[in-house]
Amino acid sequence: MRILLVEDDELLGSGLSDALEFARYAHEWVRDGKLALAAAQQNDFDLIILDLGLPGMDGLEVLGKLRAAGNQTSVLILSARDGSHDRVRGLNLGADDYLIKPFELDELLARLSALERRRMGVASNQISLGRLVIDLASHSVMLDGQAVTLLRREFMLLRKLLESPSRILSRGQLEAAVYGNEGDIESNSIDVHVFHLRKKLYPEIIKTVRGVGYQLDPALQGAGR
Ligand code: CA
Repeated sequence: MRILLVEDDELLGSGLSDALEFARYAHEWVRDGKLALAAAQQNDFDLIILDLGLPGMDGLEVLGKLRAAGNQTSVLILSARDGSHDRVRGLNLGADDYLIKPFELDELLARLSALERRRMGVASNQISLGRLVIDLASHSVMLDGQAVTLLRREFMLLRKLLESPSRILSRGQLEAAVYGNEGDIESNSIDVHVFHLRKKLYPEIIKTVRGVGYQLDPALQGAGR
């Protein structure tokens, strides 16, 4: 899941950015409403964490413009304690959830997991898929009942494939999910992660679709959902 973080408070923003990094979400952080709108319109994010009081453009205006333009990206609003009017307006404008400041990072991560489950159409953090059990909250993976240690990027890649199991994802789409807007990515880095996932899990877990990209093991599609 690729996240756009919109927060102008440096301290809170850097805490949130660290928490997202820790939870293995690729993300981009912007501090201004107009930049947020431009980033959301230009890039393929799965979720926007949106502060309301922003320089450039108010968060509610950003949300309103996105929805008016047909952008359906999930939005989680961060709002001040006394802003119940804003929360109602935000939900009416099409926000998916909101958190009142100050909040615990644990709660934010739990809300993100819930939005991710909703996106993936699963009811629990634990997804059983063939020989695999994948825990979206603890980022752990079991193969045939045995824990398998995946590196952060390997888990991010596997999670991206799980989000849309029947789709073939290009190398570029996988790079965006795994690296966000980090520059200087080795041209074969996705192939290297795929190689390691096949080795640590089993060879057929990821199918190469020549000239197009990668796809989750077709035998797993529709299972566990
Ligand atoms: Ca603010």
